[in-house]
Formats: sequence, C-alpha cells, structure tokens
Amino acid sequence: MAGNNSSELAAEGIKRLLREDEKMQDGNETKVEMAETALRRIDISDPIEMIKRGFYHFKNEEFDMFPEYFQELAKAQHPKFLVFACSDSRVCPSRVLNFQLGQAFMARNIANLVPGFNQVKHSESGAVIEYAVTALEVEVILVIGHSKCGGIEALMALPDDAAPTYDFIHDWIKIGLPAKAKVMAEFGNEPFEIQCKMCEKEAVNVSLINLLTYPYVRSRVANGTLKLMGGHYDFIQGRLQVWGFDAWTKPLLCI
Ligand SMILES: [Zn+2]
Repeated sequence: MAGNNSSELAAEGIKRLLREDEKMQDGNETKVEMAETALRRIDISDPIEMIKRGFYHFKNEEFDMFPEYFQELAKAQHPKFLVFACSDSRVCPSRVLNFQLGQAFMARNIANLVPGFNQVKHSESGAVIEYAVTALEVEVILVIGHSKCGGIEALMALPDDAAPTYDFIHDWIKIGLPAKAKVMAEFGNEPFEIQCKMCEKEAVNVSLINLLTYPYVRSRVANGTLKLMGGHYDFIQGRLQVWGFDAWTKPLLCI
C-alpha cells in the first residue's frame, strides 16, 4: 500500500518534471507516460528506495519550488498549532489536515493521549507542551483522535486487575482510564465497538482536561491567548469533527 503510494508520487514527480523540461511540446505525453509506466514497474519495497523517492518528490515539488518559503523557515519556526495525534500510520495530521511545514508542532503517541502535569513520569509530553506553549507561543493545541484506534481498543479491553503484559503500553494507555469509566457508565450495555467509538472522543476530552494541569497552558487559556480544541478523524467515512474546549466543549466543525 505504502509502496504503491510512493510509486505514484514518484511517477507524478517525474511526469511534472518532464512536462516542464519539454514545455509540453506535441508528442511529449507519450514520453511522460513511458516514464510513468517504467517507474510503476520498479519494485520499491526497498526502504532506502522509498526514502530516496520520497525525498526527491518533496525536493522537486516543494523545496525547490518555493525557495523563499523555505528560506524563511530556515530562520525560525512560528507554528500556529501544537497537535497531539496518534502514532497510527493512517492518521498523519500533516496529510489529513494539510498542514504545511512550519505550521504545526507535532506530538504523536499511542492513542493521542496527553498525560497530566507530572515531572516524574511522561516527561517527553511535558517537554513538548512546555516548549510549544512557552517558547513557540502556539495559538491552538489540537488533540485529534481517530476511528479504529488500537490504543483505545486496548484500553477498553484492559481488565481492571490485569498484570501488565507490555513493558510500556498498558501504563501509557491508562492515562485514558477516566474516559473509559465515563463510557462504561453511559454506554456499558452497548456493543464493544460502540464503546470504543465513544471512548475515542472521550479520551480526547480527558487529554484536554489534562492540558489544563500545565500552569502555562491554564494561564494562557484563561487570558485568551491559547485555545484548546478536540477533534476526531473518521477514516472509514472520511469525516472530521472539531470541538472547542475551555470549561465546556462546544462544536466547531463537522464535515
Ligand atoms: Zn490510534
């Protein structure tokens, strides 16, 4: 799947380059099609080949195309967003929300969870939040969940008294336990699949609440210089929901 996408991207890049080189002269399409077909035939299961083609595509289509933009980015970054998203390979926010380089500071982890302020545990998340908020002064923190989240499914399936079978995963997903408790209280009689679906959104709300335990987040939300938003990307239906959060949640977008 990934190989096919990379192949298509590489083919598209070559196609565009040929078009520019030849300035779309008559008969050029045949040459373009030949190059495209040749690229598609090459097996790109080789990871180095995938990386190489991916970078060539980026360099040709973006880096060399917009030099002024990248010169500005080289001086400093001023991202508007800090985004917490799942590590799931199907939900990259830069693809799904079309963030350009420099627009979103990113933290990705299992089930897009934000732990509460704690200087002993989960310092990686704390460092990301501290830097994004105090140094970069992002305007929005978006926590975005997604459909069929394996981390949320593991949380919902985790027996209360289970001994950990993973070195890190169970301890991490337990950050979402308040969301699980709320879902079980409200949807305890619903099928497991529905409970997981509800928990995907509730866990986002738990993370938004946890964000308020960071003093620099809390003070900026209070004075209006920082907004918290929750979101859910459904990759089965191709839908997106976004809601705002301060003391209460309020819907912002449903598409
Ligand atoms: Zn996930």
